[in-house]
Amino acid sequence: LDESQEPNQLHFLFVPMGSPGHYIPTIDMAKLLAQHGGVRVSIVTTPVNALRFGSILDQPIQSGLPISFLEFPFSYKEFGLPEGCESIDDLPNMGLAGALMQAYASLQKQVEEYIEKLDRRPDCILADTFLLWPSETAKKFRIPRVMFDGMNCITQMCNHVLYLSKVYETVGESESFVLPGLPDRIELRRTQLPFAFTLNNKTMSEFNEKLRVSEAEAYGVVVNSFEELEQDYVDEYQKVRDKVYCIGPLSLCQKDESENIQRGNKSSINKHECIKWLDSRENGSVIYACLGSISRIEPAQLIELGLALEASKRPFIWVVRAGHKTEKIEKWIDEEGFEERTKDRGLVIRGWAPQLLVLSHPAIGGFLTHCGWNSTLEGISAGVPLVTWPQFQEQFYNEKLVVQVLRTGVSVGVTKTVFWGNEVESGVVVKSDEFIKAIEMIMEKGIEGDERRKRAKQLSKIANKALEEGGSSQRNITRLIQDIRIQSSFK
Ligand code: UDP
Repeated sequence: LDESQEPNQLHFLFVPMGSPGHYIPTIDMAKLLAQHGGVRVSIVTTPVNALRFGSILDQPIQSGLPISFLEFPFSYKEFGLPEGCESIDDLPNMGLAGALMQAYASLQKQVEEYIEKLDRRPDCILADTFLLWPSETAKKFRIPRVMFDGMNCITQMCNHVLYLSKVYETVGESESFVLPGLPDRIELRRTQLPFAFTLNNKTMSEFNEKLRVSEAEAYGVVVNSFEELEQDYVDEYQKVRDKVYCIGPLSLCQKDESENIQRGNKSSINKHECIKWLDSRENGSVIYACLGSISRIEPAQLIELGLALEASKRPFIWVVRAGHKTEKIEKWIDEEGFEERTKDRGLVIRGWAPQLLVLSHPAIGGFLTHCGWNSTLEGISAGVPLVTWPQFQEQFYNEKLVVQVLRTGVSVGVTKTVFWGNEVESGVVVKSDEFIKAIEMIMEKGIEGDERRKRAKQLSKIANKALEEGGSSQRNITRLIQDIRIQSSFK
């Protein structure tokens, strides 16, 4: 525990949530803020996650960056969680997600005891939106709270207009409708909306109401996006909420390749093996398929994807993960001789891929993604066109941004949410032919593909500029720190 603090240095207390899509960008943000100067960051974490976070931050901390960890345990037994289970992707089944949230809530007492013992209170609590207790802690100690939900401004605005207009209540299940009052004509079906609008149960409604109050009470919000990417939506969001700071793409703070190999979970493939494989491919020839950290896709559905990658006759990297059903899909791969048949041009990664390393390699020509916001933005930052296959929550909005607004992606054409916590077979939603069609469109040469690739490259340049000195995201980091400094001087 490093409690040394220079007199003028601001202290940010970070409280990330246990899910890779949330904690990875939070950790990147800690690095960016600490690098900016005048700030030290301490990160509230739990024992197993501390190892994961440490893997991203070891090097920067060793080189003197003022970041430290505050490690607090919770009792796995008390919450009915398996030993060592501290992140959503560790859960044996999604039915335990509520228990994990409760376990996280039990950290409140320990964090408050820590704050009480400090000579000087932290200047800011930067907490994941989905954790509700930091809002109480911030109020109790009168510390400004900035929230982070891992999403973008288009998502905020889509949710905002849906919440206000309730337009979805008046349409049929599979009927499409236009979201009112947005800068673009965004058309969705009810079956593609986030759970907050579709799951009609008491726990969900109560949680959403608390979330709304907590959001309204926050001092500000940091967004892992950059203004040039979605300027119209940033402007709209700023009309409905005070203090919006777009400070992304956060993954771009990981400039040093050596850090990328173990980002969150430990990579299932050796870095050098991965680079060697990529180096042996032509530029822009490989399709990279990875569906994030928490989706639990049916083996039958994954087989359709595997068959499409095989039929595409193109080099590919396929990251295979199906949560509790991973064994079934791995069995199929082994027993059907899939790897043997495709060994000359396919690389199957079982488990965790070094995604940034892969995406930044010139051999990658397309990224088949589930449209989780981190993956989407990492693809955009790398200048890679996307094949979009959204599964649930705001991923359908992200698809609209990529395919319709930015025009750097092609959709596989999914029209409904595949519930990630569902233990019931949801069957095959996308057939291999549909994957092949979208992959071909992304990878083929020709005017349309060339234009798409050009746009993607252009966006990557703008993304990188945003985080350079004087860039929009750097300016917003400065603004955030200045605003907190002013708040702090009121204390
Ligand atoms: N990720 C990774 N390797 C994998 C799978 C995921 O490094 O094999 C990282 C990915 O780069 C991203 C995060 O995990 O930063 C996943 O976040 P995202 O928002 O894309 O999706 P989620 O997992 O939350 O659905």
